[in-house]
Amino acid sequence: MLTELTDLIKGYLPEADFSILEKAYNFAKTAHAGQSRASGEDFFSHCVEVAKILASIKLDIPTLSAALLHDILEDTTVTEAELKKEFGDEIASMVEGVTKIGSYHFSDPEEAHAENWRKMLLAVTKDIRVILIKLADRIHNLKTIKYLPAEKQKDIASESLNLYAPFAQRLGIYKWKNEIEDLSFEVLEPEEYKILFEKISISKENNAQNIDLWKKLITEKLEGSGINFRLSARPKNLYGIYKKMQRQNKSFEEIQDVIGLRLITDSVANCYGLLGLINTYFSPIPGSFTDYVSLPKMNMYQSLHTSIIGPGNITAEIQIRTEEMHRRAEYGIAAHWRYKEKGEIQQTGSQVTEDVENKLNWLRQVLEWQQDLKDSKEFLATFKAECEFEQVFVFTPKGKVIKLPSGATPIDFAYAIHSDIGDHCFGAKVGNKIVPLNYELKSGEICEILVKKSVKPTEHWLEMAITANARSKIRKYLREEQK
Ligand code: MN
Repeated sequence: MLTELTDLIKGYLPEADFSILEKAYNFAKTAHAGQSRASGEDFFSHCVEVAKILASIKLDIPTLSAALLHDILEDTTVTEAELKKEFGDEIASMVEGVTKIGSYHFSDPEEAHAENWRKMLLAVTKDIRVILIKLADRIHNLKTIKYLPAEKQKDIASESLNLYAPFAQRLGIYKWKNEIEDLSFEVLEPEEYKILFEKISISKENNAQNIDLWKKLITEKLEGSGINFRLSARPKNLYGIYKKMQRQNKSFEEIQDVIGLRLITDSVANCYGLLGLINTYFSPIPGSFTDYVSLPKMNMYQSLHTSIIGPGNITAEIQIRTEEMHRRAEYGIAAHWRYKEKGEIQQTGSQVTEDVENKLNWLRQVLEWQQDLKDSKEFLATFKAECEFEQVFVFTPKGKVIKLPSGATPIDFAYAIHSDIGDHCFGAKVGNKIVPLNYELKSGEICEILVKKSVKPTEHWLEMAITANARSKIRKYLREEQK
């Protein structure tokens, strides 16, 4: 089992020193000896699987060592002091962090979830790797969930689907987000999952021919261009298809013939070059183009998206991105840096400082407002809204782009610009028309906030603002006013 893990790591860290990892492996194996999981499996195998999941997004040796040790404080007699003595501060404090998040035992599962998420977010300030271990732990628990009582399964799966998956997405780790969604979906809607699973397997076979045809057509047209690229079919996650069917109120048959393709190239200029060629040789579907390269998503996802129609009226959705963007879309926040031995952050690649800073800033912000939200339900609802992936791009009259979660209103927009503007806004103009403060902003709109010094936030505003930023500032104002 150890060699399976080290082989995975050698794939991306060929020069790594495995001595501390081996030590952690043997130490945890001995400490957990005799314990077993609900599945009847040896308990320690869980620790190894969690480490493997982390290796799949190429994490460093200290994180993987901490993963092997992640249940040791909770489930064995080993103490924090021992851990520190054997493995040093960096690894020991990650294990402590994971343990602290731990499992709360409230009668109300919602309250338990809220408490765990508060702890989880607090852990971020110390070391974001703690959260990555917790996410990997959840993925493996979902994989082995069928041995738990039915009610517990549903509870874990719904928390995973509603909070863990959006959170993984917000950190940009799509690989994990898809995995968490599909595993939870299977538990929550077993019938739907089974039907869809079978349909997808059949359509995969049927679509294989169309995919090959498309690949051939595109390759022929692009090959002579002198632009380097690789073309691949894009796997789709089951839950994503299920949601799309529900959202568009369409049957599987109606959406299954859409083929997903991905073009990966070496530079931003070549992304646009390939897009130009695609549009020259094929018929783009009007309105299908989205430029997430110049306007990255909130989780820093970048790609050009477009849909084209080809022979036999078959639609292909195409994503165009650079290798760097691709790596980031797969591994998210974990792709940005490697920790050096001393726990110092070593950054790799270009544009990285800004990316990591953006994500960490968001997490810091989340931490700030979470202190204001005493009510568990509200805390979870706001957190969920903040993780929301669908978003709108709204412009200020001066042309600055403000990114907001979809459903955001002029109040959210005003607070996103400045808290002073938020605190005194009494209306908004969208495209020269006055709109109410609860107006739902749409992408591409230009919004002008109308302010008056005498206007002040009221309780009612909390019903119209959806972003954590706006809500926490409104609350802060109301609190200070009360004093
Ligand atoms: Mn565990």
